[in-house]
Amino acid sequence: MTVRRSTIALSLLLAAALPGGVSAQVGIATAYRAAADSLIRGATADSFAYRRLGRLVDTFGSRLSGSASLEAAIDWVLQTMKADGLENVRGEPVMVPRWVRGAESAELVRPRRARLAMLGLGGSVGTAERGITAPVLVVGSLEELARRAAEAKGRIVLLDVPFTEYTATRHVRTDGPSAAARAGAVACLIRSVATFSMRNPHTGATLYDSTAARIPAAALSVEDAMMLHRLQDRGEPMVVTLRMGAHTLPDAPSRNVVAEIVGREKPDEVVVLGGHIDSWDVGQGAMDDGGGSVAAWEAVRLLKRLGLRPRRTVRVVLWTNEENGGRGAEAYAKAHAGELSRHVMAMESDNGVFNPRGYVLGGSDSAAAVIRQVAALMQPIGATGLERVDGSPAADTEPLAAAGVPAMELDVDGSRYFWYHHSDADMLDKLDPAELARCVAAMAVMAYVVADLP
Ligand SMILES: [Zn+2]
Repeated sequence: MTVRRSTIALSLLLAAALPGGVSAQVGIATAYRAAADSLIRGATADSFAYRRLGRLVDTFGSRLSGSASLEAAIDWVLQTMKADGLENVRGEPVMVPRWVRGAESAELVRPRRARLAMLGLGGSVGTAERGITAPVLVVGSLEELARRAAEAKGRIVLLDVPFTEYTATRHVRTDGPSAAARAGAVACLIRSVATFSMRNPHTGATLYDSTAARIPAAALSVEDAMMLHRLQDRGEPMVVTLRMGAHTLPDAPSRNVVAEIVGREKPDEVVVLGGHIDSWDVGQGAMDDGGGSVAAWEAVRLLKRLGLRPRRTVRVVLWTNEENGGRGAEAYAKAHAGELSRHVMAMESDNGVFNPRGYVLGGSDSAAAVIRQVAALMQPIGATGLERVDGSPAADTEPLAAAGVPAMELDVDGSRYFWYHHSDADMLDKLDPAELARCVAAMAVMAYVVADLP
């Protein structure tokens, strides 16, 4: 399939303004050094972004799609963006799914009674009020489940699959429950998708396959999953009772938050930067993705405060419903379909606002050449790296990348991200004010320079 390329590709900007490889490099470095330094100084001078994130997550808490807390948070962001003096501040309507967790528990009833640390998976169906009580089959992989399918009938299947890499391990969460249902299981448990655990279970979306029965699905903490696996290995018959009040209500109205600094020369050409304002219904959604949302917002507020109005429009977008639907990203691309050919770049921060290392780009070699030069301006904070991927590195920029817009994600030190991700531990204290400030700087410099290239 041919992808329509952005007609204002980054490479063309560069070619028009700064012909020649080496001279181009010198060009961006000299033309934008002063602005980059002042943005870096402005972002790192205080802990404003951290305090603002604290205000967001302590006041409104977690922000699941369809919840009152998400919409109240969006109201506050819109109001505060207006007070910041950002331009064209608005909420763009999106209908989002509304999954409700309800009361839930998992209890080991044989060989002894013990409460298991669990979280239902987003999108799961619930159980009847008395719950499901059944013997447990533990398997270590989806392949083992396929091999032992005959033993799964009538049981609660536990997929105790250790974390390898997020996309690969997430597959167990998204597709495991339907695989278990096809084997005749009555419910599915998974080992939390996490790289470290203090017995905190991690939720996340599961996806039912239309060809399989919808069975209740939940994550156990890593520790509980490993314990059940050990019990099975010793030949202990196990019985678990799973109770889940999970249910799905009709779609609910939400909004993408949009605000701008209108370009001084080419206002209809747009650089997008953002994060997602929704979160799971546990913890505070501080890391995922309150931090990314505030980093993008603060980057734009900084441009405003420093009087830096680039040639093109810089637009902050806080997408709704990234976690369990991606409806915000779809709605943005649809609502702005007519101007996507004038979107120069779209960048999201959705890996936690830990120490920034640089950027991940899904785009052409010539776009990479430009981004590499802008990234070099981040030398004072060490965020000069550039990784390349095919397609979109971030979820919310996917529909934009599909329309040919170069898509980027802020690249951060991800070593602790999956300790907290989608769990009750995703609270403000896990983040560091100075690291968040450097994320702000990295987003501000990239957005400003790309928006201002002649
Ligand atoms: Zn996220």
